Amino acid sequence: ESLAGHLSTRLKGLDEALCGGIPFGVLTELVGPAGIGKTQFCLKLSLLASLPTNCGGLDGRVIYIDVESKFRSKRLIEIGINSFPEIFLKKGMAQEMAGRILILHPTSLSEFAERVSLLQQQVKLLIIDSMAALVLGEHDSEASRQQALGWHVSFIKSLAEFSRIPVVLTNQVRSQIGDESRMYSFQGQRFIKLAKSPISAPLAFPFKITSSGLVL
Ligand code: ATP
Ligand code: MG
Repeated sequence: ESLAGHLSTRLKGLDEALCGGIPFGVLTELVGPAGIGKTQFCLKLSLLASLPTNCGGLDGRVIYIDVESKFRSKRLIEIGINSFPEIFLKKGMAQEMAGRILILHPTSLSEFAERVSLLQQQVKLLIIDSMAALVLGEHDSEASRQQALGWHVSFIKSLAEFSRIPVVLTNQVRSQIGDESRMYSFQGQRFIKLAKSPISAPLAFPFKITSSGLVL
């Protein structure tokens, strides 16, 4: 797969364990309890995908499916200024970078599928925060909900494959939809664990959330 690639997380150990970062063309599922840092991680990934390539970014646009309206552009810019001051402190650049992230608020899976099928060439990252909230929509029975979910998971997977972009989705409980990275806290310390690291046994990395976002 010569066209395959990775979105670097800039978190050194994590990138190494992931052979370069979040892989293109597959679903990566971030699983963890409320408040652990899933959305914070998604904000950082969004910034990284939109950064110019000479700064290690993908110079692209991002579609951020913000199902629970938890996206805060103020926080995004705070992380940008603290993590990439050389870019974000240039006149107009914070707005330019934030403008590359398209926030969508679909209320159902079908509305989501409709919006995302408009995915353009410049889109280099798709984030679904959170998958569970998106699935909870309009279905009257568990069976019809499961059927719709199955269809949409296939749809999202093929979207990742055909457009060869990383797709990151968050969930409080595991759904086994994609390659799973688990976030948890133990004795007051947060950890991120890559269940499917291609090069090593499952590795857990301690992390913190600071004004610069998620840091190891
Ligand atoms: P949920 O499942 O409820 O969506 P989540 O895993 O997405 O939860 P986040 O919203 O990513 O959780 O993380 C929230 C936590 O991030 C806060 O509890 C706080 O500890 C930390 N945090 C947020 N902003 C900052 C900041 N500016 N400085 C330091 N820590 C922060
Ligand atoms: Mg969240």
